[in-house]
Formats: sequence, C-alpha cells, structure tokens
Amino acid sequence: MKERILQLRKLLREYNHNYYILDKPTVSDYEFDTLLKELQDLETQYPEYFDKNSPTQRVGGNVTSNFETVKHDYSMYSLANSYSKDDLLDWEARIKKVLAEDANVQFTCELKYDGASISLTYQDGALLRAVTRGDGVQGDNVTHNIKTIKSIPLQLKGDNYPARFDIRGEIVMPFAGFNKLNSARIAQGEEPYSNPRNTASGSLKLKDSSETAKRPLDALMYFVVGKDLPFNTQFEALEQAKKWGFKVPQTAKLCNSIAEVLAYVNYWDNARFDLPYETDGVVIKVNSFDQQEELGYTAKSPRWAIAYKFKAEQVSTKLIAIDYQVGRTGAITPVANLEAVQLAGTVVRRASLHNRDQIEKLDLYQNDTVYVEKGGEIIPKIVGIDFSKRAASALPVAYIEQCPSCGTTLERKENDAKHFCPNEWGCTPQLTGKIQHFISRKALNIDGLGAETVNLLFEEKLILTIADLYTLTKEQLLPLERMAEKSADNIINGIAASKQAPFEKVLFGIGIRFVGATVAKVLARHFKNIDQLMLADFETLTAVNEIGDKIAASVIAHFKDERYLAIIERLRQAGLQFAIDETAQETLSDKLAGKTFLFTGKLSLFTRGDAQQMVEENGGKNSSSVSKNLNYLVVGEKAGSKLKKAEALGTVTILSEEAFLALING
Ligand code: NAD
Repeated sequence: MKERILQLRKLLREYNHNYYILDKPTVSDYEFDTLLKELQDLETQYPEYFDKNSPTQRVGGNVTSNFETVKHDYSMYSLANSYSKDDLLDWEARIKKVLAEDANVQFTCELKYDGASISLTYQDGALLRAVTRGDGVQGDNVTHNIKTIKSIPLQLKGDNYPARFDIRGEIVMPFAGFNKLNSARIAQGEEPYSNPRNTASGSLKLKDSSETAKRPLDALMYFVVGKDLPFNTQFEALEQAKKWGFKVPQTAKLCNSIAEVLAYVNYWDNARFDLPYETDGVVIKVNSFDQQEELGYTAKSPRWAIAYKFKAEQVSTKLIAIDYQVGRTGAITPVANLEAVQLAGTVVRRASLHNRDQIEKLDLYQNDTVYVEKGGEIIPKIVGIDFSKRAASALPVAYIEQCPSCGTTLERKENDAKHFCPNEWGCTPQLTGKIQHFISRKALNIDGLGAETVNLLFEEKLILTIADLYTLTKEQLLPLERMAEKSADNIINGIAASKQAPFEKVLFGIGIRFVGATVAKVLARHFKNIDQLMLADFETLTAVNEIGDKIAASVIAHFKDERYLAIIERLRQAGLQFAIDETAQETLSDKLAGKTFLFTGKLSLFTRGDAQQMVEENGGKNSSSVSKNLNYLVVGEKAGSKLKKAEALGTVTILSEEAFLALING
C-alpha cells in the first residue's frame, strides 16, 4: 500500500507541475481528481504514512524563477471539493458539529470561476502589488502584467477602505476573447490554445507586459482579507468590493439553508453555459466572519468553505466516420470524426477511440449520436451513446481487419490493447513515421525538413529509410515541387549538422520501441556507445536503473533485426555519433552559471544523479555540503539536518523539486 501512496504522490506532483507551472496539463481534471481522491482515501486509511508534503496537504502551485517571489500577507488556500449533494450535507453536518447543532448558519454561494487565482494588495487605496497564489505562502509578483487588465482598479473609489488589505480573485479569459485569439493564431499557422484557463494563467506569466496587454483578460474578485475590514460577512464583502470599483459577478447569492444552496447549485449547473466565461463549480462559504474564525483552516483549505464541482461538460453530436491512423510502430488508433460541435469553449470535430475494446465497450454503431466530454480539455472523449437516436437499421461499427494503408491483416498481441500492422518494412505510414520521428525536435532535430517534405521525398523514392537522408543531394531536391534553392540548402545543411547530434539523440531517433528520449539518455550514459549496448543481454539491461523487462526485450529484438543493423551501419558510415563524447561536458544553457546546488531528502520528480547532471548541463555546480558558499538547497520529502542548517544560515535559497525544475525550464 505504501508503494501505491508514494506512486500517487509522485504522479500528482508531476501533474501539478504540468498544470500550474507549465500551464500544459497532461491529464484531464477528472483523472487528476480521481487520483487525488484515491490518495486521500489511502492516507485516511493508513495514517502511518502521513506526510505534510503530500499533494493532499499542500496547495498545488509553486513559484517560478521568472518573477520576484513575494510572501503573501495572508496565506492563499485551495478549496475542499465535493461532487454530490450528499457531500454538501456531510459538510453542513461537520460545520454544525463545531458551531453547535442549532447554530444559525447562512451561506454565500458564488460561482467557481475557472482561471488563475490572484491576490491584489491595496495600500491607501492604491494597487501596491499583484501576486499569484504560488504555493499558497509565497507567489510570483506579476504586478506589471496585472496592471494591463482594465477591470482591475489602480485606485479605489470611496474612502472606507482599510489602510492595507488583500483582495483575491480569479483572472479569467472570457470565451469570446479566447476564440478570437485562437482564430488569429490559426490564421497565422500557429497551434491554437487548448482552453481558457491555462491560457489565462500563462498570460500572467509572460515576460513582456505589452504581450499580456493584448490578451483579453478579465478579473473577477471574491474574497477580501485584512485588518479592520468595514464588514462582518462574506456577502457584505462582495457588495463593498463592488463599491470600491472591483468587478464582482452579480451571480452571488445569500442562502439561509443548505436546501437553498442545493437549489442554487441545480440552477447554475445548466445556466452556467450562458455565462461569458468558464466556471467549473459553485463555491459555498459560511457567511459570518465570526463563524468562519471558529471553523478555521486545514493545512490546505478553509473549513468554512467548500467547492461543489459540476460534472464535466457534455454535448451530443453525430458520428460521421471512423478514421484509423497507423503510427510509426504500426499501432492502429481509431479516431472518430464528428459533426462539429461547441464544447467548453472550443469546437470539437474529432475524438480518440483508443482501440477496439473501447469501441465495443461503448457499443458504438454507425451514425450514432454520441456524448462527448472534455474533462481537463485535453483530447475530447466519447463517453456514451444516445441510444434513443439510433436507427433500427443501424449497423455496429465493424473494426477493421486490414491495415487501412497497406492492406496487411492486422495483429493483436496478448496483453496489448492495440492492433498492429505487422508490415513494418512495407507500410507507408510506418516508414514515413520512422523518418518523421528521426528528424523531430527531440531526436535529430533536422532543420528545414518537416513531415510534409518527408512524405514528398518518400513518394519520390528519394528516401526510404533514415539512412537515405545522408546520401541526399541538392540536385535531387531541386526538381521537386515548390523546392526553392534556399529550402534545398537548408535541408542539406540541416542533415549535415545532425551528424554532430549527441549519441543519446541518435539512439532515440533510430526508434527502438519503448525507448523514449529519457530512456535513450539513460542507456547512452550507461553503455557509452552503441557497441556496448548491442552486446548487452537481458540481465545486463534490466540491471540498469529505470530499464524494465519490456524495454530490455525490445532493445534486444531491435539489434537482432538485420535490417535495423544495416541502417545503423550506414548511419555510422555517414558519421553520426554512436558514442558519448566524454571529453565535452554537454552544456545546454548557462542559466545556473555561478550558482551552487545541493539536493537533500527523498526526491520524487528526478533522481539525485539526474538532478546533478541538470545542474551541470545548465552551467551550475554541485556542492556536497551546506555552507555559506551554497546558493540553493533543493529539498525532497523528509529533508533533515541539511535543511535545518541551511535555514539557520539564512543565506541559502530553499527550493522544492518543482521550483528547481521551473528554474531550469523558466
Ligand atoms: P480548486 O479548483 O480546487 O479551488 C480553489 C481555487 O478556486 C481558489 O484558489 C480560487 O482561485 C478558485 N476560485 C474560483 N472562484 C472562486 C470563488 N468564488 N471563491 C473562492 N475561490 C474561487 O483549485 P486548486 O487547488 O488550484 O486546484 C485543483 C483544481 O485544478 C482541480 O479542479 C484539479 O482537477 C485541477 N488540476 C488539474 C490538474 C491536471 O493535470 N489536469 C493538475 C492539478 C490541478
């Protein structure tokens, strides 16, 4: 059980990092919340594994290195979540236990605006600073960017405000502005943004305020905190904030009972779709400040408030057809083509169906009307079918048996959910996919060549495998359609430059199944050159940290295949790097130049070795002890004496693992 708890903590930390720091969630909110709930339950069941640094105990965000770090005058909290009416009734019962059974409790209900939280400090009526939530204790000073948002008053109206106070709210990007921004991006050939929340959050972290000014942001305020406030309840606070000049939505309501709260939740569950901005729930707060004080806070959230999360937005639309994509490894992915439909602020036309089992589980028929959902707005999913709309004559979707590209009969291995086209060396999308993978940014990063050009060169039979790239000539390229002299030069130069790419990139580029960029790095560093790697047997491979059975078996199979061996030999002849360059310590940046680092405690986002390497790659130095010369101490779980010593010295900056990554990625 301990293992699962640790595993969940690690996963959730990583998801938090992607969500809050990189503004690029990698799983849906639903998935995130489900894992968090599982962890919460396990921690309740096994209190011996309590950890104050667990994602269940801490506010999810963090500070980044791009901005000045500011400590909040008053901590910023998260909210406890609830998903059902029973959860709300339980919450009320818990409150009544503390406040007395017959206490008269009023609730302020507000919508839960989905954006990035912000804390504005006002001093003598003027905006002093704007700070992100960060880790709840300290955040990023983004005042310059915040000042570009027109709905934030720089000077307050009236005169009854306290000398200094904080007001909290959510920076959102209304749908209209978001859609306009995306249309402009698409017109310029740029990737559209995936959802308003992450775009709003990302906009606050731009280095250039004039760029933030171009983003259609709005600020909706919901909480005032400070001394000598001229009101005693949450509802009055909202009313007063409006009078001071803040934008406070009119949607808040004072409720006298939990029954009224439930009615509010029911109403907004539907009515929210007419709002100009995204909301993901209702926030219910005990109205009286005295009662709030009595209830207090947990480490992560106030006990006097709770969020009720709406179910993920669903729409129904029609299935037009199913496309089957063939990946570079031959894996088949069915993709549903849908009648275009508006969902959570974006237009959806396609949804992944994953594999045949998924289609069977859904019981999908041709032309079905399907329900589509976007959890964390990643890739929309088909979650169900409106059976009432199915025609009596409709036929079930029949999964293909032959490869849609080359016609070979598909195979499915035991324990593999996906079907594969086994025609590895004769199926066009597999062959071009391998070349596209090889030239991609994370692999050989060949400038000038893109997926389309690869397809064209393949069609013209100028390249059939990655090895053919290195015999291409400018004269062969020039006759191609739309190939200008300069583009041809770029391609040839890009290919020539790739001969200097380090071994780990080459190893990733040659496309061994299950060997991703990180695994390639591990293998390259361990075996130092391709000959040693080729000699390694199963035991030697699995003895390497992070290399499991599946990867080991795949590496061995790859190097047994004569065709792959021939390609590798040709690449070697062409002069590519098949050994690590031990003389030159690879430097990626000088971001950490002049800084010393030490890692302590149990690290969960990376290993100590990797971390030290990252320091060196970015120009920093590793230290072995805490001293005046140390600049940063990066602390994992259960950090002990080193942390104490660093705190006592007072000259060392203490970083979480996430903050360390942000420092490097920032
Ligand atoms: P939360 O959504 O649980 O709630 C707290 C926040 O709600 C506050 O900080 C505040 O900014 C906001 N809020 C909006 N309206 C409010 C109002 N009227 N009153 C008070 N607060 C209001 O926030 P959280 O702790 O940032 O994060 C958890 C959420 O983020 C979850 O929904 C989770 O699914 C999502 N998340 C997703 C991923 C992912 O990878 N998909 C990762 C981390 C978090």
